[in-house]
Amino acid sequence: METLLLELADYKKTGIISTADAEKLGCAAKILREGGLAAFPTETVYGLGGNALDQHAAAAIYAAKGRPSDNPLIVHISCMAELPPVVEEIPVRAQKLAEAFWPGPLTMIMKKAKAVPYETTGGLDTVAVRMPEHAAARQLIALSGIPVAAPSANTSGRPSPTTAEHVAEDLMGKIGAIVDGGPAGIGVESTIVDLSGKKAVLLRPGAITREMLETVLGEQVEMDPALERPLDASIHPKAPGMKYRHYAPKAQMMLAEPADGIYSAEGLGRITERLCREADERLSRGQRVGIICSGETLPVYEKAYGGREDVILASLGSHEKEENIAHNLFSVLREMDARGVEFIAAEGVRKEALGYAIMNRMKKAAGQNVVLV
Ligand code: AMP
Ligand code: MG
Repeated sequence: METLLLELADYKKTGIISTADAEKLGCAAKILREGGLAAFPTETVYGLGGNALDQHAAAAIYAAKGRPSDNPLIVHISCMAELPPVVEEIPVRAQKLAEAFWPGPLTMIMKKAKAVPYETTGGLDTVAVRMPEHAAARQLIALSGIPVAAPSANTSGRPSPTTAEHVAEDLMGKIGAIVDGGPAGIGVESTIVDLSGKKAVLLRPGAITREMLETVLGEQVEMDPALERPLDASIHPKAPGMKYRHYAPKAQMMLAEPADGIYSAEGLGRITERLCREADERLSRGQRVGIICSGETLPVYEKAYGGREDVILASLGSHEKEENIAHNLFSVLREMDARGVEFIAAEGVRKEALGYAIMNRMKKAAGQNVVLV
């Protein structure tokens, strides 16, 4: 056990651990408990864990990710008994939402307990807490015996990791271990709701929708203004992370959506026409182009560009199955980077339920470069 631990804690050769290997999972838990870093799968995306109560571990997370230190971390717990030590009080709303959605892809912001250092909360008096559903994540947190601060396990600004390979791409040699649990199920990060003020406010959309929160709370959930408007200097987002460029591929990206919001055959026809026009223009300038489309539109692009080396086609899946689109999105963005794409023409999705969370990530990836057709 000891030699194995030493080996795993050697950051120059980040150990990759299978979730099925109970002994090694115990080693990863020990790394966390002793102030080191370990990445692990959750049902949303992979997280980069460190002891949430240790300011040095929090600082190490920021350093490994290259993340600005005013962008707070989410604290992960494995059971309800682990909540009181990290928050000053549990609001009634949090109790209700925890009963309905924990364990699961919901992060709640509450007033922080003194024990949580400002390094973990990015200097805020509030703390973000989530109880993930993923069995290996919960097991790791429980074994470590500490609350685990874990932002997404990517280099800051890059698309979030949904496989252990993505984590390795960004963090190999910088952390103690990567727990490999295969592809993350949902594929987009947790919903974040702020419960520290008078009203519940949605800060980041995810698989738990605003409507689902409202049904449980029996009241309206406000939307953070930064969600609907591209950020300008006059807006101070409640979730500090919102002000940073996020989920971004290296390529420049343009996102097209139907002006009426309806993804009918006509709407998709207008999108393919616009994206092909843009792609042709870029190709004529000698750029390598990526096209992110759907199962419905892939044949159109295959017909137009099939066999071309300078065009990378990727379908996210059918518009009828938004879970697949969410699951594939970050992988496809990373694939575009890996293939040296310089310009991405992307098709939007219907902004309902999970689709709203998907579009939130796609717009950020596109740097808000959205055209209505
Ligand atoms: P990530 O862990 O990479 O998914 O990012 C965590 C997100 O949670 C960031 O966008 C943070 O800004 C947000 N967050 C964490 N703690 C707080 C907090 N106390 N108040 C508001 N937002 C938070
Ligand atoms: Mg992140």
